[in-house]
Amino acid sequence: MATLETDICVIGAGSGGLSVAAGAAQLGVPTVLIEKGVMGGDCLNYGCVPSKALLAAAHAAHAVRDAARFGVRVGAPEIDFAAVRAHVHRAIAAIEPNDSEARFTSLGVRVFRQHARFTGPDTVTLADGTAIRARRIVVAAGARAAVPPIPGLDQVPYLTNETLWENATLPAHLLVLGGGAIGVEMAFAHRRLGSAVTLVEGAAILGREDTELAEGLKRVLRDEGIALIENAKVLRAEPGPTLVLESKQRITGSHLLVATGRAPNLSGLGLEAANIASTKAGITVTTGLVSTTNPKVFAVGDIADVENIGPRQFTHVAGHHAGIVIRRALFRLPAKVDYRALPRAIYTDPELAQVGLTEAEARAGGVKASSLHWKMDENDRAIAEGATVGLAKITLDGRGKIIGAGILAPHAGELIAQWGTAIAERAKLSAMAGQIIAYPTRAEAGKRAAGSYFTAKLFAPRTRWLVRQLRRFG
Ligand SMILES: Cc1cc2nc3c(=O)[nH]c(=O)nc-3n(C[C@H](O)[C@H](O)[C@H](O)COP(=O)(O)OP(=O)(O)OC[C@H]3O[C@@H](n4cnc5c(N)ncnc54)[C@H](O)[C@@H]3O)c2cc1C
Repeated sequence: MATLETDICVIGAGSGGLSVAAGAAQLGVPTVLIEKGVMGGDCLNYGCVPSKALLAAAHAAHAVRDAARFGVRVGAPEIDFAAVRAHVHRAIAAIEPNDSEARFTSLGVRVFRQHARFTGPDTVTLADGTAIRARRIVVAAGARAAVPPIPGLDQVPYLTNETLWENATLPAHLLVLGGGAIGVEMAFAHRRLGSAVTLVEGAAILGREDTELAEGLKRVLRDEGIALIENAKVLRAEPGPTLVLESKQRITGSHLLVATGRAPNLSGLGLEAANIASTKAGITVTTGLVSTTNPKVFAVGDIADVENIGPRQFTHVAGHHAGIVIRRALFRLPAKVDYRALPRAIYTDPELAQVGLTEAEARAGGVKASSLHWKMDENDRAIAEGATVGLAKITLDGRGKIIGAGILAPHAGELIAQWGTAIAERAKLSAMAGQIIAYPTRAEAGKRAAGSYFTAKLFAPRTRWLVRQLRRFG
């Protein structure tokens, strides 16, 4: 079989691979895109989109349940889970055309719907034997649910983020194993839709988040009626499904969701044939996303482990990576990843969003960090809407530079954007404190937190003395 020659060959049509392929093809560069599964990858089919669609249904149920608080009386919500599921699949279907084979073909990309593996340093071979030699190969093969080696788990039917959306009935009692963003979001969504939910975590729930924000969200989860079990060692799983803990606790649910982290899709890629270094965290790449051992190969998205710091598994990171690959491979520019202003959000209600470093992360990196706060119970919009849980928190380095921000509030994922801009553009704290922000909005909380840095100075005896002197001039 003849070898197909191309400039760019992308393995994986998820968030990262699609962005690289679309960019390259639109710049007129011969591009091949290979996908063994569904177009759109995790985000569209098994991740961001279905999870946010399910959360939207959950929030709607809550709004009905909560309406009486505002003097609006409606009955208890009735959950038609088949219709909820249909809504989730409609959301996927509405976005699907953007990621479709037809769209990419029309952009000029040669799309192959097959498994790909490396058979040489610049060559990839498809399942049907077609060999593709490329000037640059971009590995965008993503990650999948990492299932922990718990004895008996393989004998118990469990759900992962890939199978959850096919679940036909609302779980009577959902056991969620794993207290990271995915576990917390799905626990929250199911609880608000009416399931009993128990969330079991081996360490601290939301352990990567700022402690104060995480504690605030955990209080919310408990108030919603979710049972939280932290620092739990699961000894074994039994049919039920039942989780047996070291503490002798046995928890039985109707369904079990495993959300204990993500493992990169390395196996079957034939990385050895192309001398591509990897660890169990992913493909080891430089800050320019180039394999440390094969200069023709880039890795992007969930599978890319930049300088062994561990992957940052978000769709917006995959997009950021794609931009770097385009600049490097096509424009020969020395672009590099920049995670200084990297945001993340957990889409519960309230949402927990973080950009840049938390105070603890900064301190662990040797920075003399401090934080400024503004609580949502002092925010007029939050009071007017009766949703006063949460706070805005800004992290500063020893010289008062903004290096992070965290917000626990409704729509925190949106509110955090201006703090990302502040970090990326190195905005001064005084500029953030001096913004004119529409009243009443929750964005005021961030401005007030920034302003609190200057309050002591503003009302200090020296400033008061100065104002007294100036009064003399009439
Ligand atoms: C439940 C859940 C919720 C999430 N929510 C959010 C969110 O709200 N916001 C956010 O930013 N991120 C979220 N994420 C993370 C986000 O989905 C991922 O970061 C993103 O999909 C990564 O994109 P990717 O291109 O690296 O990989 P993927 O989207 O996983 O795409 C990789 C593709 O490569 C294909 N592939 C793998 N190996 C081969 C091979 N050998 N040959 C051919 N094809 C291959 C796969 O079939 C797959 O389609 C969520 C994830 C999950 C699981």
